[in-house]
Amino acid sequence: MTVASRDLRLLPKAHLHLHFTGSMRHGTLVELADVHGVRLPDSLRDHWPPELSAADEKGWFRFQRLYDLARSVLRTEADVRRLLHEAAEDDAAEGSRWLEIQVDPSGYANLFGGITAFTDLVLDAARTAGDRAGIGIAVVVAANRTRHPLDARTLARLATQYAGQGVVGFGLSNDERRGVTEEFGPAFRIAHRAGLLAAPHGGELRGPDNIRACLDTLGATRLGHGVRVAEDPTLLRRIVDDDVTLEVCPASNVALGVYRALEDVPLRMLVDAGARIALGADDPLLFGSRLLDQYQIARDVHGFSDTELAALARSSIEGSTAPADVRKQFLEDLDGWLSDSA
Ligand SMILES: [Zn+2]
Repeated sequence: MTVASRDLRLLPKAHLHLHFTGSMRHGTLVELADVHGVRLPDSLRDHWPPELSAADEKGWFRFQRLYDLARSVLRTEADVRRLLHEAAEDDAAEGSRWLEIQVDPSGYANLFGGITAFTDLVLDAARTAGDRAGIGIAVVVAANRTRHPLDARTLARLATQYAGQGVVGFGLSNDERRGVTEEFGPAFRIAHRAGLLAAPHGGELRGPDNIRACLDTLGATRLGHGVRVAEDPTLLRRIVDDDVTLEVCPASNVALGVYRALEDVPLRMLVDAGARIALGADDPLLFGSRLLDQYQIARDVHGFSDTELAALARSSIEGSTAPADVRKQFLEDLDGWLSDSA
């Protein structure tokens, strides 16, 4: 019998909730801003990470503004390749074996010759970066719920063209309080017909009502966050019974004011109920917290034992779109981690 604590960096995991721009290293943001002459506010330069809150529209607007600024430093093909290379390196260093990165190509279309050209670039860069870092990288194309649902359909059609060629899912992001979830149903149906996974954000800034809409009208099998299902026992039972994976991002939840403190994130409660959880970092660039930190939070704040941490990592792998043989290898290595002495 051994007691904690094994090295969490060696625990094989899948990382299912990471945004493209939000994955950027802070040092890279500052460097690229200087190269391209983008003026960064103090909160993105010297007083990083910024203080954020999304408790109200104003708070979300501030978050979004910083996000847009960060996106604006990505100007060239080399910048995109660098971002993915570093994201892959950072994930690999933290024991992530499989990364699903979310991107909304329409945010980059103007500078990179349209959404198709940009998606080609991202997929090629992701393949190269993954090979070099020794991890698998897949892409989730995400629509923006503050834009018109017809834009989402365009992106869904784009995503279907790359199904089986690096794009594995379709998502929906931005301020959950804006837009009508049901109106994105047609876009998700297009993605579903091509065999893409449905992974919209839901149950973060809104509660169970929007989680229900994501399940009923978008066919979600994975939920970005989804933590607020904890407020509705009946819905939680459904999530568990239907094997819906919750991409839980504790540091993000606290940074954006969804919960006041890390101990308030209902991680333990969701796990005890039998929910499949995949811990994720969301936007390390804005929250100052990467994937490994989320596992460290589970250990330090929520008292997860090594056996329970391995179960969390197992959930992340099982909730991923990694091919069966790859998954099998990860799970064997995971058992190895647990059987090694601490
Ligand atoms: Zn997110």
